[in-house]
Amino acid sequence: MTTSKKKTMEMIDVIAEMFPEAEAELNYTNPFELTIAVLLSAQTTDIGVNRVTKGLFERFKTPEDYLAVDVEVIESYIKTIGLYRNKAKNIQKLCRDLIEKFNGEIPNNYDDLISLAGVGRKTANVVLSVAFDTPRIAVDTHVERISKRLGIARYKDSPLEVEETLMRKIPPERWSKTHHQLIFFGRYHCLARAPKCHECPLLEECREGQKRLKKGLVK
Ligand code: SF4
Repeated sequence: MTTSKKKTMEMIDVIAEMFPEAEAELNYTNPFELTIAVLLSAQTTDIGVNRVTKGLFERFKTPEDYLAVDVEVIESYIKTIGLYRNKAKNIQKLCRDLIEKFNGEIPNNYDDLISLAGVGRKTANVVLSVAFDTPRIAVDTHVERISKRLGIARYKDSPLEVEETLMRKIPPERWSKTHHQLIFFGRYHCLARAPKCHECPLLEECREGQKRLKKGLVK
């Protein structure tokens, strides 16, 4: 049994009050840079990504720029982050796709976005929501964990099922902001290993918090 729409919105409102200013922490100046930044962010912190994109975005402005060099040159700019070899390769594949299919521009609709090399559902949703202001709710590791801990979604749900549940329970005009607020809540409060249940305003209604309380883990 998961939470009702009403209960879900009450909890989302509490989280919204805690993080009213939540927004994307990745640095970018246009949809192309944002897409590259999101690709780079897999299994890496936004801070780590911002550290490398400063130099990367100064050197490479267009898809053609990324294709004009050997992949090792791109690697040299991003080698402090995880999976950098794969990510460098994917950036070049993405750029090739952009030039061949979309005139070098990032498309502003879901189907075209996920047709791009290296762009999955989560990346497409982040780009649509952040760069194009389209209501979407991207499910990353934080959004998935929080939704499950609070009982909004089932523990066994896939990221896609979590996304569908959130879209059913939250009105579309709140999707984009809620995405960022859940990420901040997960990053700074309900952390994966050490959630701050002892000072959580949702402790009473949170099924994970209650479980932890019974086990004596809330101190
Ligand atoms: S009670 Fe604990 S597990 Fe539940 S939302 Fe709060 S911090 Fe997270």
